[in-house]
Amino acid sequence: MRDASAVITKKLYEEDAYRTEFDAVLVSVRRKEDSVLDVVLDQTCFFPEEGGQCPDRGELGGLSVLDVQIEGNEIHHYLEAPKDALPEAGAGIHGKIDWPFRFSNMQQHSGEHLFSGTVHRRYGFENVGFHLSPSEVTLDFDGVIPEQDIPELEREVNAAIWSNIPSVVRMTQREDREGLTYRSKIDLEGEVRIVTFPGIDSCACCAPHVARTGEIGICKVVSMIRWKGGVRVSILCGKRALEHFQKLHGIVVQTANDLSTSMENIFPQVVKLKNERQQLLARLKDASLKELQYAAKEIASDEEHALLFSSGAELPAVRKVVNALCAEHPGYCGVFVGNDEEGYSFVIGSRQLDCAGLGRQLQETLGSKGGGRPEMIQGSVARKREEIEGAIFSLTRP
Ligand SMILES: [Zn+2]
Repeated sequence: MRDASAVITKKLYEEDAYRTEFDAVLVSVRRKEDSVLDVVLDQTCFFPEEGGQCPDRGELGGLSVLDVQIEGNEIHHYLEAPKDALPEAGAGIHGKIDWPFRFSNMQQHSGEHLFSGTVHRRYGFENVGFHLSPSEVTLDFDGVIPEQDIPELEREVNAAIWSNIPSVVRMTQREDREGLTYRSKIDLEGEVRIVTFPGIDSCACCAPHVARTGEIGICKVVSMIRWKGGVRVSILCGKRALEHFQKLHGIVVQTANDLSTSMENIFPQVVKLKNERQQLLARLKDASLKELQYAAKEIASDEEHALLFSSGAELPAVRKVVNALCAEHPGYCGVFVGNDEEGYSFVIGSRQLDCAGLGRQLQETLGSKGGGRPEMIQGSVARKREEIEGAIFSLTRP
């Protein structure tokens, strides 16, 4: 086995972003965990996790590539491998990247260049953070992009996409970069790879890009939030933008069908339903209070305790009814609001008995929550009406 510390893995993805298969020589093979091999090759098409972008997926020698990391000049491939499978260093191996996954990353990443370049040209803001994972693409800028400018920015970026501009990649030495304008997150020494979309953007970058901007398809901003004095913008390009639109379209169509209205009418319809709901809730509360007051009058005046159950009365009304019951009955007077499925909120009062003591007992027997003073307690209990009545009456029985 050769010393892996001297290895320089040749980055085939830098030369040709569209190459999906390759043959390589195993330079070092180590078992990292029981079922994971750490493999370094003389050359690879696998882009490692770098510059905020997630690593490529695929297969090496028929084994799944779980992760790809770069350490110095070595690219480590972490393979899912059973215990007995240990290929030998020096042997040849065939690799194949997951092309749909890679191409989607190329779309997202190249879209990021166009977006960041356009923002830089319009506002002078720098992209100070980039994150491309299988689930999101975020761009951090050191200034605040006005919300109302987003549609115009999207039009400009997509016009650049549809102009089908070719990307130009070149390796530069320090002297080549003198007088060259390009975006970079750090001051760079030595050899630097510069990726240019002429007229739109020039940026120091290590990742694979599309050959022509038309391949990005579309770029859409899906959110923008304030982030460390600037903004964090989430974008989606190409395939991911289509999948996002399909998902949103599905929700909109389903909602419109369910409301028996057109897509354009969803919003006014929802506002109308919200208002109706508020009015109905107010009427329901009113009716519940009346029902509660009526039920309170129905309890025989010589009953010691008085318990009432309601489906939707409001707390101030409940207190009012409990106080009225306390004036009539010497024992525990309680109102429980809710239902058997979701449980009940309650207020229990008494002019003569210790409600706080009853509260503690209900906590033990029914697992209720809440508290209060000896004269009145308030809480909630996730039990059925039958169980609540049973518990209170058994506690109050001499
Ligand atoms: Zn790039």
